[in-house]
Amino acid sequence: MTEETRTDIWHASPLYSNSVTQLEEAAKTMRLDPNILQRLKYPKRAIIVSVPIRLDDGSIKVFEGYRVQHNMTLGPGKGGIRFHPEVNLSETAGLAMLMTFKCSLVGLPLGGAKGGIRVDPGLLSRQEAQALTRRYTTEINMIIGPDRDIPAPDIGTDAQTMAWMMDTFSQEKGFAIPGVVTGKPIEIGGSLGRAESTGRGVVYCVQHAAKHLQNIGKPTLKMDQSTTISIHGFGKVGAVAALEIFQLGTKVVAVSDVHGGIYNKNGLNIPKVLEFMDKHRTIKGFPESEPISNEDLLALPVDVLIPAAIDGVITSKNVAKIKAKVIAEGANGPITADATTDLENRGVFIIPDVLCNAGGVIVSYFEWVQGMQNFFWSEQEVNSKLAEVMSNAFHKVTQIQAKYKCGMKTAALIAGVDRLNRAMLLRGLFP
Ligand code: NAD
Repeated sequence: MTEETRTDIWHASPLYSNSVTQLEEAAKTMRLDPNILQRLKYPKRAIIVSVPIRLDDGSIKVFEGYRVQHNMTLGPGKGGIRFHPEVNLSETAGLAMLMTFKCSLVGLPLGGAKGGIRVDPGLLSRQEAQALTRRYTTEINMIIGPDRDIPAPDIGTDAQTMAWMMDTFSQEKGFAIPGVVTGKPIEIGGSLGRAESTGRGVVYCVQHAAKHLQNIGKPTLKMDQSTTISIHGFGKVGAVAALEIFQLGTKVVAVSDVHGGIYNKNGLNIPKVLEFMDKHRTIKGFPESEPISNEDLLALPVDVLIPAAIDGVITSKNVAKIKAKVIAEGANGPITADATTDLENRGVFIIPDVLCNAGGVIVSYFEWVQGMQNFFWSEQEVNSKLAEVMSNAFHKVTQIQAKYKCGMKTAALIAGVDRLNRAMLLRGLFP
């Protein structure tokens, strides 16, 4: 059959197109069954919802929300909820696809999903944000649940958002169902160490990269006081990674948020930056630093660059300016497919998103397991289990890279797709 069976709505965002390009590269390298590839290139299910709320001034505004389930062969869907003005169906689908490969790569019994609302959360009052979250939860409640699909925080959402989602879902069922979301506050069934898990996992990966480069005879990264690191995005992922790196005694020379960045060639005092941000709601104007634009921060000649804000920040347009030796993808999809190839050809070591930022979903899984057993672990236990899973995943990816002589991005996708491929073939095609 040669007729075209799909519409092109999915490819509307660069993130989706890039994810498919990288999946195709992995499929070619590992000689993936073409039937499996065809199924993995599109999501299993997507829902678009209208989310009407009454604003504080009495007017009604209708927002657009999405939930996409990419693949649920390995278990319930898992993936964050994003509140951002540029959220759309295609980007949400691309992020859901990345979640599928991430959960599979780190060995979780979970599938890939993602959701979001096209909104600037900075413009909402607390009451409006609560109304939006609760109405969105109601609109998608038929496809989420502890055994179906479990949301978590992402850009623009946090533990409070998850508490409202959990409460709304529970009110509608008539009893408490904490397992419907992860990333909840500790008081209502959250896990110790979840808030820090993604940033912590990024730093574990950078430490593994340092050892790995030395083992393969490329001692480009020492992770000591002489090492310089810059971080693009100072939110739930970037700020935690910055603090962990500072505590290791390594220099964080620059950090930024959506408004711009701060730079100090001798290293920023991150606890003081965090205090400053708490007080002023921005890092702009931090005294022991000079201002730097986001574009210039990305181009700094540092040992490690951690893009931890949004997707598509390193593209064919600015890739030639990038001077970092190692790039740890804290964000999802920060480097486009062609820029990835360019950097890897220049010998830049990339720690790919599906590996690098997997700490969040790993501890989300721990939260889900603890909640189901009603038995909660110490933070030390959470962290040591996280370190073990991250370490196994890192080594799995480097082994695949050595076997196929491919880039780290392709290797990470092969690791994720391989397990999924076997599971899909075993389950077969229904009907
Ligand atoms: P967040 O909302 O807490 O922080 C985002 C940060 O990026 C903020 O400092 C914001 O000001 C900055 N930012 C936003 N747009 C920017 C732009 N155009 N230029 C520069 N900076 C910009 O979000 P987060 O949870 O830290 O997520 C960041 C990235 O990490 C996203 O790609 C997300 O999907 C990914 N991620 C998050 C988690 C998690 O557990 N939170 C897990 C895995 C992956």
